[in-house]
Amino acid sequence: MSVGFTATQRGRLATLGVDEQAGQAFASEGERNQAFAEIEKKMSRENRSKIEHLLADKHTSDAFDIQCALEKWLTGEMGFTKVSTPSIISGEMLDKMSITEDSRLREQVFWVGRNKCLRPMLAPNLYVVMRELHRITNGPVRIFESGSCFRKETQGAQHLNEFTMLNFVELAACRPGEQAERLEFLSKSAMSALGMEQYELKHEKSTVYGETLDVEASGVELASGSFGPHKLDAAWGVFEPWVGVGFGIERITLVKGNHKTIKRIGKSITFLDGVPLSV
Ligand code: ATP
Ligand code: MG
Repeated sequence: MSVGFTATQRGRLATLGVDEQAGQAFASEGERNQAFAEIEKKMSRENRSKIEHLLADKHTSDAFDIQCALEKWLTGEMGFTKVSTPSIISGEMLDKMSITEDSRLREQVFWVGRNKCLRPMLAPNLYVVMRELHRITNGPVRIFESGSCFRKETQGAQHLNEFTMLNFVELAACRPGEQAERLEFLSKSAMSALGMEQYELKHEKSTVYGETLDVEASGVELASGSFGPHKLDAAWGVFEPWVGVGFGIERITLVKGNHKTIKRIGKSITFLDGVPLSV
C-alpha cells in the first residue's frame, strides 16, 4: 500500500511553491513524513534567503519594478502625465459607464454605504480628468493612473479582489480613423518597455467598451485597450478621438515571474514579492 502527502502537507508545499511534488507516493507514513520534513526544510531555507536578499539588496518587489518600468516609459519618451484620483467613487459613475444593475461587473462591485463604491476600474475618473484637461488646453491630453481596483471575484489563480491597474489614455492626440492603429502601437510599445517579446494581440467585443484589443501572454490577459468616440462618450462630455489601455500589474508580474498563482504577488500580509512569510 502506498501513501501520499496529507491535505495539510500538500497545502504547505503549495505555500512554499513546490506543489509539483505534492503527488508523490511513499511506502509508509514514516517515509512520507521524513520526505515532507526534508522538502519543507530546504524550501524554507530558500525562501528565507530570498527574503534576506529582498531586505538587504533588492528592496523593491517585482510588481513595483514592473509598474515603474511602465511609468518611466509613459512619463519619459511618451509624454504622459501621472494623475491620482480617489478609490471611492459614486454609483452614478458606474451608471455612466453603463455598468447597470443587470451587468456582470455590477455584481462584482464592493459598495461603501448606500451609493458609493470601491472603483472596479480607473476609466470613470480618467474620463472626467481628461475631459477637463482638454477643456483647459484645447490640445492633446495624455494621462495615466496606477491604482487599486476592486472586484468581487470567485477566487482563482488569475484574479484578486484588489489589484493594481495602470490605465493610460490619450484624448485628441490622433486623427479620426487612426485610433485602432494608435491603440496597437501603444500596446506594442508598452510590451517592449516591459521587455516582453512573447505575446498576442486579440481583438474582442465588450459590452462596456465596444471594440477592444487584449494583450495576452502565456494564455493570460495582461491588458485590455479600447478607443472612441463610442456610445459612452456623450455622457462624459467627450467628443474627440481617444485611445486607452488598462494593464493589470499583478498579471504582468505573474507571467514574467512564471508564478502559479496571483495571490503571491498581490497586496498581501502573508507573501512578500512572491515569497511566503511563513518560513
Ligand atoms: P478577466 O476577463 O481576466 O477577468 P477583465 O477583462 O474583466 O479581466 P479588464 O476590465 O479588461 O479585466 O481590466 C484590465 C486589466 O486588469 C486586465 O487585462 C487584467 O490584467 C487586470 N485585471 C482585471 N481584473 C483583475 C483581477 N480580478 N485581478 C487581477 N487583475 C485583474
Ligand atoms: Mg479585459
